[in-house]
Amino acid sequence: MRKRAAGRNEPNRPLKQRTHKRFSGNGTMVIFFPVILKDLFILGRNYPWPRPDSCPRCCSYRLWGHGYVPAYFEGYDRSFSLKRYLCPDCGCVIRLRPRGYFKRFQASIAVIRSSIAIKSHAGKWRPGIKKERQRHWFRSLCKRIKVYLTDEWHRGILAGFDHLLALGQIPVSRAI
Ligand SMILES: [Zn+2]
Repeated sequence: MRKRAAGRNEPNRPLKQRTHKRFSGNGTMVIFFPVILKDLFILGRNYPWPRPDSCPRCCSYRLWGHGYVPAYFEGYDRSFSLKRYLCPDCGCVIRLRPRGYFKRFQASIAVIRSSIAIKSHAGKWRPGIKKERQRHWFRSLCKRIKVYLTDEWHRGILAGFDHLLALGQIPVSRAI
């Protein structure tokens, strides 16, 4: 029987009420869930991982634990273990990821956005993060604005970031 804890953060509350889901196109589904990264870092695999109510692809209620995958986040020198589930009915792999972080990015969305804001308004790179990485984010964003928002985009780089985000894209992703 599934445990329904009633703690402050209610970690076992059904996921569908409070998460964003993204299909990544390779049979893997990423579910973003709210978590304080520090808690996850300290507790590791003992963290009370939320469990999806059903498979997000085929709605099967059978979901199996499918191990953990390592992930790195800015500010932590060790890798995190992020939980996975497997749907035995359709083969979908469900990965949990902390909300506030893009897939495959170690810095939080807030940090990336602030880097873009400082660069576009003051022409400087944000202190504390390697310039090379920030340059990659900025270039990728400019490229995406050209491709998806066309050359007619006159609302600025930061507004472009927000607009692409609202479209469900990762604004600083290099993959076009
Ligand atoms: Zn399924």
